[in-house]
Amino acid sequence: ALPLDVERIRADFPLLARTVHGKPLIYFDNANTSQKPVSVIDAVDRHYREHNANVARAVHQLGEEATASYEGARDSLARFLNASSRNEVILTSGTTQSINLVAYSWALPRLKPGDAILTTVMEHHANIVPWQIVAERTGAVVKAAPIDTNGELIVEKFVEMLTPDVKLACVAHVSNVLGTVNPVRELARECRKRGIPLLVDGSQAAPHRPIDVQALGCDFYAVTGHKMLAPTGTGALWAKREHLESMPPFFGGGEMIREVRFDGTVFADPPHRFEAGTPNIAGFAGMTAAIDYLNGIGFDRLETYEQGLLAYATDALESVPGVRIFGRAAEKEPVISFLIEGAHANDMATLLDLEGVAVRSGHHCAHPLMQFFGVPATLRASLAFYNTRAEVDGFIRAIEKVRKLLL
Ligand code: PMP
Repeated sequence: ALPLDVERIRADFPLLARTVHGKPLIYFDNANTSQKPVSVIDAVDRHYREHNANVARAVHQLGEEATASYEGARDSLARFLNASSRNEVILTSGTTQSINLVAYSWALPRLKPGDAILTTVMEHHANIVPWQIVAERTGAVVKAAPIDTNGELIVEKFVEMLTPDVKLACVAHVSNVLGTVNPVRELARECRKRGIPLLVDGSQAAPHRPIDVQALGCDFYAVTGHKMLAPTGTGALWAKREHLESMPPFFGGGEMIREVRFDGTVFADPPHRFEAGTPNIAGFAGMTAAIDYLNGIGFDRLETYEQGLLAYATDALESVPGVRIFGRAAEKEPVISFLIEGAHANDMATLLDLEGVAVRSGHHCAHPLMQFFGVPATLRASLAFYNTRAEVDGFIRAIEKVRKLLL
């Protein structure tokens, strides 16, 4: 494949051309949310200008167009995740809703006192708190598999912790703080041997690598649209059909029933059983465009480019005096957490913003991980395929400047 033409790609992202505090924007907060290409913005705009109607309710032309667009997003996501059936894809508002759906519909009715849910120390709160809520209500417990100082999951420990009390295991495919790629295939194999379903939080994987849920061998896979070029308020849960069929609905309402009677309502089959109410129809028009855009680049080209940029940025950052980088996994996505000795993360981020540099500072919704590293916060530079080496250079110059101001 031809190398990625980053200048042409940048021209597709209108926001990248703006300035912040009079400086050209350097947007390195992509793990928080990605920017959107014109094709996605246009798809949302076109929906409201030309096709707006509710889905699955009306037989009129617009209703059919809106439904075709919404159901088309399900087809796109099914192909994107390599689901064996479009009916295994539930459209949600994002990963948080996807995981809560599994927590409330799959875990809550099953768990009993003495049961356990196994997760890891590197999870986002979205893959911890729903399990704690369900554990609290059922008398189950949440256990966390440890990581090492490189920020890698200790796989032997994870496997050791897959004891008979564990009824579900939940791991991030990629850590939002460290960029660590977890060996999901291997974890899924170990879970399968023991009959334990595995849920994978794919929020930070889907923007960077091709996802094949069948090859991974997991049971549930959650993605969030806004981190993969799609509008906010879009996402999906993929789950094996056998799980979906055994799950009662999470929300009740319109569009999720076959027949409603006061002496007993019959729910629709999956996926519609889990999609009560009017969804983010315009957002999902954008989701289809986002997936088309990613496929248009191709993950082989995207990965080669991003890995080159990650190596370049890591080397450059290491040349800054007093820098400490968190997360040295052998396989990682372009996310770099770091601190500069003697400077508070929030002060750094505030001053970097004045230089036009957008990075995140704080705990990144991963308190247990911060506790593991013994810091209250880190700075996080998270890159995308539309970022450049020139931006990395600008970022490093900004850090040098800010460092001198603070120290
Ligand atoms: N999991 C991970 C690993 C994430 O990075 C995020 C977003 N920061 C989430 C879950 C939650 O995603 P959302 O807010 O889109 O539901």
